[in-house]
Amino acid sequence: RAKSAGGNRFEVADPEADARAITRHGLTTALPAALERGEFFIEYQPLVHLGDGSVRGAEALVRWLHPQHGVLSPDRFIPLAEHTGLIVPLGRWVLEQSVRQARAWQERNGGTEATGPLRINVNLSPCQLTHPGLVQDTVEILERTGVEPSALCLEVTESALIGADDDLLKPLRRLAEMGVDIALDDFGTGYSNLANLRRLPVSVLKLDRSFTQSMQQFPADPVDLKIVEGIVSLAHSLDLAVTVEGVETGAQAEQLRILGCDTAQGWYYARPGPPERLHELTLADATS
Ligand code: C2E
Ligand code: MG
Ligand code: MG
Ligand code: MG
Repeated sequence: RAKSAGGNRFEVADPEADARAITRHGLTTALPAALERGEFFIEYQPLVHLGDGSVRGAEALVRWLHPQHGVLSPDRFIPLAEHTGLIVPLGRWVLEQSVRQARAWQERNGGTEATGPLRINVNLSPCQLTHPGLVQDTVEILERTGVEPSALCLEVTESALIGADDDLLKPLRRLAEMGVDIALDDFGTGYSNLANLRRLPVSVLKLDRSFTQSMQQFPADPVDLKIVEGIVSLAHSLDLAVTVEGVETGAQAEQLRILGCDTAQGWYYARPGPPERLHELTLADATS
């Protein structure tokens, strides 16, 4: 407890900071048992083709149903899992569950000829990239489930790949050679050298939500418009597809479609939700 009178001013207690530290510590130590007990679950958010509005797949987003704290978002516990290494088994679990789910969707409605089989996007932490089992685990999961490598997209943040050496890129190259898509997540926030893109085995750029947000005002900031236009044309000239995150309004979707973005994701289409929701959305697609 901080001394109230005549005490050292630098010792004044910050009860909130203490509480946060305690929770962090508590959550960190609870992670392994939570994985064993099945407290994690996955929500899926549709990826929509901007040209025709059809659902092409979904991104898997993990949540923790904590017995005391309720549903925790990944921002609360992924950094802790990365710190302790639990992200490796947790990430493998997410990958397996999500690919299984993709298989189930594919079996139930097959996708149309125009859209191809529904695809699944799964986030990878930098720690998973340096873990030697990544390629083998992924191959096994795809084989066990019978999902085509081309229906899987692994998302890696731009910041994780900045300055990446060849050792870090090797597993991604192997996966890309097998036909798995690699997406550069949160693109545009990491100050990466655009020329560097050629060196990375990526096939998709996921434009960060901050760009989408700047399309909210009308007219949108002309400089932001130019930047997005430039990124899209560079991406397309390198044969990369562009996905936009955080689309919350129809105006944003329309602006981004005009700018040439390929796929979109955001609350305007659907919030992340249980797997049945995606199934319903794709069925609605097929009958409309
Ligand atoms: P991300 O991969 O960039 O995922 C997009 C985030 O934006 C998700 O937050 C999603 O719920 C949110 N979002 C989607 N549409 C909108 C929108 O229209 N407006 C706004 N404001 N937000 C939107 P979420 O689910 O909290 O996930 C946060 C981050 O946690 C993810 O960012 C990803 O980096 C990480 N994450 C989630 N699941 C996993 C996982 O299984 N493994 C790893 N390593 N990281 C994960
Ligand atoms: Mg992502
Ligand atoms: Mg993202
Ligand atoms: Mg993001």
